[in-house]
Amino acid sequence: MTNPTPTPGIHHVTCIASDPQRNLDFWVETLGLRLVKRSINQDDPSTYHFFFADAEGNPGTSMTFFPWGADVPRGKVGSGQVSRTAFRVPEGSLDYWEDRFEEYGVDYDDRIERFGETVLPLRDPDGLPIELVEVEVPADDPTVPWTEFVPEDAAIRGFHSVTLWLADPDPTEDLLRTMGFEEAGTEASEHDPGDGGRTRFAASGPVGQYVDVVSAIEGGRQGHGTVHHVAFQTPTDADQESMRRAVASKGLRPTQQIDRHWFRSVYFREFAGVLFELATNGPGYDSDEPLDDLGGRLVLPGTFEDRREEIEADLVDVTIPRAETAEADD
Ligand code: ZN
Repeated sequence: MTNPTPTPGIHHVTCIASDPQRNLDFWVETLGLRLVKRSINQDDPSTYHFFFADAEGNPGTSMTFFPWGADVPRGKVGSGQVSRTAFRVPEGSLDYWEDRFEEYGVDYDDRIERFGETVLPLRDPDGLPIELVEVEVPADDPTVPWTEFVPEDAAIRGFHSVTLWLADPDPTEDLLRTMGFEEAGTEASEHDPGDGGRTRFAASGPVGQYVDVVSAIEGGRQGHGTVHHVAFQTPTDADQESMRRAVASKGLRPTQQIDRHWFRSVYFREFAGVLFELATNGPGYDSDEPLDDLGGRLVLPGTFEDRREEIEADLVDVTIPRAETAEADD
């Protein structure tokens, strides 16, 4: 087997939410991400698919949600899942975030130290565990902050890491090495389950660079407040195909490439049950809307556009939060 092109890191993370308006309000206004795409779940066009990202929708910055409505049961975070999704924020910004969480009534915990970094754990309104991690953002950082609700010196700058909770970490750790991650250390923490510690795997980064592995026995259950899947960057079709072959040679069963309109995807369930995706960097969220207008309209990919009237009638109405500017008061 030839080695695949190493992945630079996480591409996007997709989660399950309940109420679409509450999901929009939290991720756009409270956390300050940009709604870069408002679309539908292609497997169930009566529900939305929201994509929140940096100002340009760069790879490694998009957190996406299926808000399945009030009837979807609450999930349970457990083994076989991404248990934590962490975002990069600029050094020194956690005071700002704690003040903001007080103001908005966000459920957050005390800061913790991990691998020499400061981490602020919180939960979104669906109970999804999130973390903000202070990092030194380089001047040439590939992410572009969105500053409608949160100032530049505090704005989220893409993913930091995901934490996998796994009943048997060894085969997954071997898979991560095949994908181009290198082991970067192990640290015990009272905040993690089990006593095997947390092992960090690092890709080339700098965005979405880390996957942390924690041994956890108790199984999870899919539902709102849980992660549906994590996607890793395979920038080109050739990168993706080489990674697909490498994954298949491990005995896993990756799908053929599927066109997701803003990127092209391959899916497979890894050894411990976590759904992984390999996603290309293009065509990108600005391939069907101008960069300035991202998220402004409901985008219906492919043949769904022919059914726009019917689809729009089935979707609940939502309002995208907009910052009130001084001009608007004039
Ligand atoms: Zn995906």
